[in-house]
Order: sequence, then C-alpha cells, then structure tokens
Amino acid sequence: MSMSRTEVAPAWSNSRSGNPRPILEITGLAVDYGYGEDRVHALRGVDLTLHEGEVLGLAGESGCGKSTLVYAATRLLPPPGLISAGQVLYYPEDGGAPVDVLRRPESELRAARWQDTAIVFQGAMNSLNPVYRIGRQITDAIAAHRPESTRAQREDRARELLSMVGIAPDRISSYPHQLSGGMRQRVMIAMALALEPRVLIMDEPTTALDVVMQRQIVEQIVELRDRMGFAVIFITHDVSLLIEVADRIAIMYAGEIVEHGPAQAMYREPRHPYTLGLLNSFPPLHGPRQELTGIPGSPPDLQALPTGCAYHPRCPFAMAKCVTDIPVLAATAVAGEPDRRVACWLNEDEALLPDALHKV
Ligand code: SF4
Repeated sequence: MSMSRTEVAPAWSNSRSGNPRPILEITGLAVDYGYGEDRVHALRGVDLTLHEGEVLGLAGESGCGKSTLVYAATRLLPPPGLISAGQVLYYPEDGGAPVDVLRRPESELRAARWQDTAIVFQGAMNSLNPVYRIGRQITDAIAAHRPESTRAQREDRARELLSMVGIAPDRISSYPHQLSGGMRQRVMIAMALALEPRVLIMDEPTTALDVVMQRQIVEQIVELRDRMGFAVIFITHDVSLLIEVADRIAIMYAGEIVEHGPAQAMYREPRHPYTLGLLNSFPPLHGPRQELTGIPGSPPDLQALPTGCAYHPRCPFAMAKCVTDIPVLAATAVAGEPDRRVACWLNEDEALLPDALHKV
C-alpha cells in the first residue's frame, strides 16, 4: 500500500507569505446534542486557530463535526446542540484585546455577524426568496446593517457585488429562478461579502454543483480572498478540492481533529491513516492518475465510540495499543515538521510509520 504523491501544481496560488496574526482562536471546544444519558458528544475538545487572510480547510466524512464546529464557534448552533466547554477568541482588527465569542452578549453578536464573520450555509442557493428580485435581497441585507445608507448607494453596492462574483450587474433585476444554480450560489457569496467581513465561512458551498461550476466558484473565492484579504474557513468532504484551495487543512473524525497542517505537506505525506484514506477516496484535480480505494466501514456511532482510537475498527495499521489508549493531537514522528499535528500512535516513533504514511 505504498504511495508516492507529487507536488500538486494548483490552478491558482494558495500560498500566503509572512506571519499572519490570529483572527479566531478556538480552544477546547466541546458540543453535545441532547441531555443526560442520551446525549451525543458531537465535538470533543477541539483546538484550532484561523489566521488573517488564510484559507483553512475542514474535511472529513458526514457527521464528523465540521459544521458543528463552525456553528458552535459562531454561536449559530441550533438546538438541541449545546456548547459544554471551550473558548472562542475573536481578535479585533484594531489590535485590541480579544473577545470571547461564547460569552459575548447576543446584541453585540448580532451586530458583529456579517460585519466580522459571514457564513454561506449548506444549500444556501436554495434559500433565496423566489418572489423577490436578487437586487432587493442584497440591498435588504445591506440595509439591515447599514441603515444610514441611501437606496441608491445600496443598489450601486449590489451591482458592484454582483460584478465581483462574476455576474453581470444588470442581473440585479432577475428573480432567482432566472439564474442557474451556480449563479444563485454566487449571489449568496456576494451577499456574504456585502459588509466586507474579516472571516468568510463556507459550509459545503459547491456540493450541489457540477465539477466545472465547483471549480469556477472555488477559484473565484480565492481570487476575492487575494483581493479583499478576508480569511476563509472552507468546509467540505472533498479533500482533493481543499488541497488546491486551502493554505492549511484540519481533518476531523468522530468530533475531533486528527490531523492538521499545511495543505501541500499533508497531500504529499499524510501522517494519519484517516487522512490517507480520504486522499485515496477522491480523484485529484491535477497530477497523475491514482487508484481510488476508499475507506472500509462507516464512521462510528457517537453515542458508542470504539475504545482507544475511534478510528481503530477501520484502520489498516491498528496496533494493540490503538484498541485501549486514546491518541492525542501532538507533533508528528518526523523531525522538522513544527507546523503539523496528528493524533495517531504511529507517530510515537518514526520507525512505526508505514511507507504509505512516510515517503522516504
Ligand atoms: Fe490507526 Fe492506531 Fe493511528 Fe488510530 S492510533 S489511526 S488505529 S494506527
């Protein structure tokens, strides 16, 4: 099961230079669904930092906690979700002291949404109101946060936003049903960018679109990021898409981050068997053809997690220790990887890493 991956030449640049400041710092975030004995631990002590201007990818199978993580971190978690522990620090643009989003008054949060952090929800393109023209829907969103603006200013801004996302400004008077799925999704991105947020969260933004449209939209998001400087959290189950778009990737499994690091490094040499399984489950957009093998079995029942490493029933490299002891997110076994973290016992000792996880 050896693997040799070559550097992917992205269709667009995903590298950011310098040493950007943190903008969102998540520490020990835990979320339960339900109460008492029936509760499910959907998120189990997640630590994650988003830096200014970067694209951070969150990947993993359905139900691994990706959406729960961002909705909890933005206080948009619907019931019966309950944040049971953690801290989410937001660093203001003026360099002032960070504020804990989880303890911020609701009135402050409402003002900060769209302005500091905007979200494009899963299936967002279907949430446009079918009986209003798209221009009205964009200007209404602007008016809610900028009531002092004039109607003419809002309409000018709506045209500018449409143009930014590649839609002709004269489509401002179109109804949603007159636009393709890709165009409707672009309208949602335009609305999210209306107030120039510092953080844009995209929850599976291209899942319902065909591959060509997916690619165009992802390219556009990165181009806008380069132009406007916002940071992006990009959630998807398609890790091959993230390799191209993200600066860093966090892989989630059973409510935890199991690997975290620079996108290209994780593509060349994944250090966690689950990351390897995900990479082998999706065809790369570039590079040589590779055999797709998938991951055997299904994600665990969060109410009855396996003992030890939650991935052990599906892991081809599981050892006796994996069945009894829970691995924690720590440095990889390989020297010179200070910006990578992995939760896998194979990384206790470089000699334990199989070829598939360690290209020599
Ligand atoms: Fe596999 Fe063990 Fe690593 Fe878990 S800790 S991923 S079971 S090798």
